[in-house]
Amino acid sequence: MSDMGKILVVDDDRTLIRIVKTRLEAEKYKVFIASNGEEALRILDKKRPDLVILDIMMPGIDGFETCQRLRSKPAHRHLPVIMLTAKHNPSEKVKGLDMGAVDYMTKPYESDELLARIRAGLRARREYERIMKMVSRDALTGLYNRRSFDLRFAEEFSRAERYNREFSLVMLDIDHFKTVNDTYGHPTGDIVLKQVADLIQKNIRKSDIPYRYGGEEFVILALETDVAGVEICAERIRTSCEKFHFGKEKKPISITISLGFSYYQQDSASSPEDMLRKADSMLYQAKARGGNCVTSATLQKNNSAAAQ
Ligand SMILES: [Mg+2]
Repeated sequence: MSDMGKILVVDDDRTLIRIVKTRLEAEKYKVFIASNGEEALRILDKKRPDLVILDIMMPGIDGFETCQRLRSKPAHRHLPVIMLTAKHNPSEKVKGLDMGAVDYMTKPYESDELLARIRAGLRARREYERIMKMVSRDALTGLYNRRSFDLRFAEEFSRAERYNREFSLVMLDIDHFKTVNDTYGHPTGDIVLKQVADLIQKNIRKSDIPYRYGGEEFVILALETDVAGVEICAERIRTSCEKFHFGKEKKPISITISLGFSYYQQDSASSPEDMLRKADSMLYQAKARGGNCVTSATLQKNNSAAAQ
């Protein structure tokens, strides 16, 4: 039913809401309703609609403010909002559009026109999502790309600072990958990269986010976990690669990976760059030890033999 899209209708006029809801449901949209701004904001977070129809004149916070508040949340920044106003007042329309509405309609309105505007809003939304997927993912492995990592890492770092949270950054690199490309050719190298990406995805936890950092290098943001948890996860990925037969079925290739990670605790890393540098130098140490191992920055501080 929600294939057509989920729509939140916000209006203090219950009769109007009922009419719009019935009409939209006849078109197979999934419809949520709210009779004021506060309720709308709560439903937004819970139900994640694809489009919002928002009345301007409401008791409590009005449509303008509701729109502004929802726009201030990153998750709703690109949500299409169609404003409904009873006023034939150009300055209201201008204000609505400036507050982040993508479209507006004046009451009373033709339901065919409203439906057409909804379709247009949803088309724009889907196009936006398609483009976002393209710019945020790595085409070969399907993992998030470097650009996505940079954005999320900066976010997680400031979140950790603000709320005194702990998290880890794992860097992972395929040992002697150049030899794979030189020996078996780049198409096989690509298969190997994809297989490593799949093994990473299979062996991480729900709260871990993997990225292709570039070339044969991957990073994992390990959120909401302690050092021991990250260590276990990193080790699991390392072992799964060690056991796996890479490449094409007829000519399996043995491959190992090295992993280094840094761990954020208050005062342990002064900046995202610092944390990244630490993880990178741990990876470098893992390589220097001959590869196929895990080293970590936090263990490094207390315990000189960090490698497993
Ligand atoms: Mg109203």
